[in-house]
Amino acid sequence: MNTTFDAIVIGAGHNSLVAANYLAKAGRKVLVLERRDIAGGQLARASFGEGFSVDPLYAGALLRPDIVADLSLAKYGLDAKPAAKSPCIALLPDGQRLHLVADGKDAATLASIRALSAKDAQTWPDFVAFMDKAAAFLDAAYRTSMPRLPHFDLRKDGLPLAKLGWTLRRLGGRDMFGVIRALSMSMVEFTEEWFESEPLRAAVAAVGIHGHTLGAMSAGGGFTLIHNWRNRGGLAQPQLAGGSARIADVLAAALKARGGEIRTGAEVAKILVNHQRASGVRLTSGETIDAATVLSGADPRRTLLGLVGAVELPPEFVWATQSIKMRGSVAKVHLLTDGRHGLPAGTLAHAPTCKYLEHAFDAAKYGELSTAPYLEVTSDGNVVSIHVQFAPYALRCGTWENQRSHLETLAIDTLAAHFPALKDSIRQIASILPTDLEATWSLTEGDLHHGQLQLDQIFFMRPLPGWSNHRTPIDGLWLCGSGVHGGGGISGAAGRNAARTVLRG
Ligand SMILES: Cc1cc2nc3c(=O)[nH]c(=O)nc-3n(C[C@H](O)[C@H](O)[C@H](O)COP(=O)(O)OP(=O)(O)OC[C@H]3O[C@@H](n4cnc5c(N)ncnc54)[C@H](O)[C@@H]3O)c2cc1C
Repeated sequence: MNTTFDAIVIGAGHNSLVAANYLAKAGRKVLVLERRDIAGGQLARASFGEGFSVDPLYAGALLRPDIVADLSLAKYGLDAKPAAKSPCIALLPDGQRLHLVADGKDAATLASIRALSAKDAQTWPDFVAFMDKAAAFLDAAYRTSMPRLPHFDLRKDGLPLAKLGWTLRRLGGRDMFGVIRALSMSMVEFTEEWFESEPLRAAVAAVGIHGHTLGAMSAGGGFTLIHNWRNRGGLAQPQLAGGSARIADVLAAALKARGGEIRTGAEVAKILVNHQRASGVRLTSGETIDAATVLSGADPRRTLLGLVGAVELPPEFVWATQSIKMRGSVAKVHLLTDGRHGLPAGTLAHAPTCKYLEHAFDAAKYGELSTAPYLEVTSDGNVVSIHVQFAPYALRCGTWENQRSHLETLAIDTLAAHFPALKDSIRQIASILPTDLEATWSLTEGDLHHGQLQLDQIFFMRPLPGWSNHRTPIDGLWLCGSGVHGGGGISGAAGRNAARTVLRG
């Protein structure tokens, strides 16, 4: 049977699934094509052996509540209510722990901070209030499609941008400047303005560099802290009943109920272009599928240079696309234990000082695995999951495959220094290297965000200056994944904004 589709969406990551749902809800006949055997992208669950099933990449996630409401996802089992805030527990060198819940009134948090500094405990409620306001501003920015500067359409772009400006102004004089200043600050500068206790500064700084190839002294850490705070709703990873994969499962179920189709094991080899217009795709199997509208949730570099090809694009655009900074430096080590690992619930951070974080980052600058890495650790029953930074994609010497067991030992030894029972409890180990992120999850250079969230690659410069509204030089081809404005992390904003732009035409 030869079915025709109004739109093809490449990839079944959560952003693609959100975009496809909005299009299907508007009555479009949509086909989602995913190269892996499972939908969900970075949210898809994986099994490494008997009793060893995990959310392999992302420890905790929330979809934007407005998307949950728009797409009636509660009907398919996704709760729009924010989960109760879980603690971020900073592991201190002397065996002490700093217990942090992003709530200015949480008694355990205030007592824990007070043990280090009475002044910092007094400041904590103001800090949380400021961060919540900053995150709300970023949230509004991610809701707003960016104009393709220097082109500015007063009718289309003027009102949304004026609203965003007004959101910023409404923060009040002090907080407005506070947010603007924070965006470009390093984590060292930013946390020193708030706190005197080094372990507290480092615990906050760790969230600022989490997932990014940035050190505690790099400019732009303030932006990434606000970005991560927005996505997490604070410092700790949000916990969703059923795990992060539930988001992808629910989006897939909702799409099918709206008449959309998802094909897994269907890798797009080429986006077909006819006179600068997208006309469909060709799969690696050789099959071609026609559609006048193609959205891609694969990263911009892969989409434009890999699937479209440089010959179809203006030379200057090709050069700019080649220059998008993709710099993955994250690895993951999962441990199946007998349950007697001794870790408490919550998000554990091994980030003793800001200097420690900066030294960990130094290694990445020189293409080396950090010898003393920053770790963020979560556990789910018998499984312990360790996020390791920095593990740069481009190693100066040797190959990643030769470093796998070294990485695993390093992560386990570093964590076991806090939890003596951990080593004896381990039954199986499964690690994910930056090269695995590229080979299995199609993340160019292992970059989780489809392009670093650095100051020159955000807002109207994401993915490229002049191309920030999901369009590309190919008519009918749109970008809807994390590499565009609103993307990076789980929220669905990039997918929703892309679909709305497509529907507006
Ligand atoms: C270890 C780790 C920790 C993270 N922690 C954080 C965090 O704390 N905070 C934060 O903000 N973000 C974090 N992230 C990033 C976050 O997970 C991503 O930004 C988000 O999941 C991207 O979703 P997406 O839908 O845009 O793309 P993806 O989930 O990457 O989906 C893209 C899909 O496209 C498919 N695809 C690619 N090419 C093709 C093709 N040719 N044909 C068909 N299909 C194709 C891929 O297989 C994939 O399924 C983390 C990521 C990792 C890996």
